[in-house]
Amino acid sequence: MAKDNSLKKIIAHSKEYGFIFQSSEIYDGLSAVYDYGQNGVELKKNIREYWWKAMVYLHENIVGLDAAIFMHPKTWEASGHVGAFNDPLIDNKDSKKRYRADILIEEYREKIQQKINKEVKKGKKRFKENFDETEFLATNPNVLRNQKKIDELTNRFQTALEDDNLDEIRQIIIDCEIACPVSGSKNWTDVRQFNLMFDTKLGSVTGDASKIYLRPETAQGIFVNYLNVQKTGRMKIPFGIAQTGKAFRNEIVARQFVFRMREFEQMEMQFFVRPGEEMKWYEYWKDFRLKWHKSLELGDNKYRFHKHDKLAHYANAAVDIEFDFPMGFKEVEGIHSRTDFDLSQHQKFSGKKLQYYDPELQKSYVPYVVETSIGLDRMFMTILSGAYKEEKITEKGKTTERIVLGIPAALAPVKVAVLPLTKKDGLPDVARKIMDKLKLHFNAQYEVKDSIGKRYRRQDAIGTPFCITIDHKTIEDNTVTLRHRDSMEQERVSISELLKIVTEKVNINNLLEKLI
Ligand code: ATP
Repeated sequence: MAKDNSLKKIIAHSKEYGFIFQSSEIYDGLSAVYDYGQNGVELKKNIREYWWKAMVYLHENIVGLDAAIFMHPKTWEASGHVGAFNDPLIDNKDSKKRYRADILIEEYREKIQQKINKEVKKGKKRFKENFDETEFLATNPNVLRNQKKIDELTNRFQTALEDDNLDEIRQIIIDCEIACPVSGSKNWTDVRQFNLMFDTKLGSVTGDASKIYLRPETAQGIFVNYLNVQKTGRMKIPFGIAQTGKAFRNEIVARQFVFRMREFEQMEMQFFVRPGEEMKWYEYWKDFRLKWHKSLELGDNKYRFHKHDKLAHYANAAVDIEFDFPMGFKEVEGIHSRTDFDLSQHQKFSGKKLQYYDPELQKSYVPYVVETSIGLDRMFMTILSGAYKEEKITEKGKTTERIVLGIPAALAPVKVAVLPLTKKDGLPDVARKIMDKLKLHFNAQYEVKDSIGKRYRRQDAIGTPFCITIDHKTIEDNTVTLRHRDSMEQERVSISELLKIVTEKVNINNLLEKLI
């Protein structure tokens, strides 16, 4: 089975099948802004629903929230975003291309890591069942040399980040001889800090007093509502507040499709805990979130944890869940132990107490927070890249190719396609009746145009788990052909059983049950 999930193919496929379009395409598009088409909007809604149910419904002590995008500007002073929500940028003088300096260094380090991985692969091939990976990593001279390079680079980079030493970050780029990926030139400008927040004006007043920001993360809407929810919901610590919604960042380099956008959607949960118990919950949420990802069965080897080199100003522990995208392992979700930083800051800036009286301890405190933060669009890309397959298939003695999206059935945009074999002999009438019943339960599609083979291919390409074909036998005995997307097997089932069979397979509970 051939599998090709290069980024270019995924972008082209997303457009061709109505998943993702460039925003304002007729005006040549807007950089790093995207629109979701007829199939994309369904997949996105289903991912959001799976996240929501897993976080809010499966956890009795987590509730939801939908805070506004616009917030009082003081919010962002308190959170530290006005002063410190910056990325280090660097320009290449020859190509005039702009890069994030930290990402250039991380990519360079990843290249060295790839060399080590290659060496291990070679070793495995050579020594077969006698291969001992731990020993190999500890003794092979090429591995040791490259590992030393990685360690030295990591130390130096980490210190530079901690000290906010922009000159040193530039010097690392120079010393590592990192070249511009476009021009190959090593002619770099200085490194500068760039604030990622978009601002605008509230009402018709001009001047700084009316300046407000488009939120760069949804979390702050949760923090400022902490007391409202805790009081009105009579929540007891530990408890969580979950929210999904748009966030905006004026990213320096916005490439790689919906991986890095300027307008995107986040799904965040802030979990409020007793001070001192945050590490226990941090470990819990690391495990739970990894389980959530793996439940989608895109391949367990496609995930890894990556510890942050530099902790954000608010965190005492932070880890990313990375996915093996077509462009390599990259962050899809962050899990952060944020201490009491945010609530304390809002307490200070607002002058309002944001404390919790703990009846067991008989004292009040500002709760600590463990956050899980995932980008819905990045998650969407995870599923597309994990699910996209090109397969050679043999049907009736003929070998052809098909593109199939192996999206988990519960998340598929269309759950079932109802396909009368021909337009004649009363077949569409029967098909319509089936369609009318099924569409009450899930997103179903009725298609009569083109040969049945072509219609199957179209449904495979959007990841529809089931196709129902109504043929002449249906008129005689009330049975239809049920075709399964992944195996392409076809079975004859009675019309009266259809709803039950499909419901069982596409039910989101199939995924949720893996989490408890
Ligand atoms: P990166 O290092 O890739 O810029 P980040 O560490 O700044 O990401 P967080 O602030 O932790 O990201 O945001 C949480 C999640 O929001 C990320 O894991 C990612 O899935 C998503 N996200 C962040 N920025 C973007 C973006 N520009 N486009 C799409 N998703 C994003």
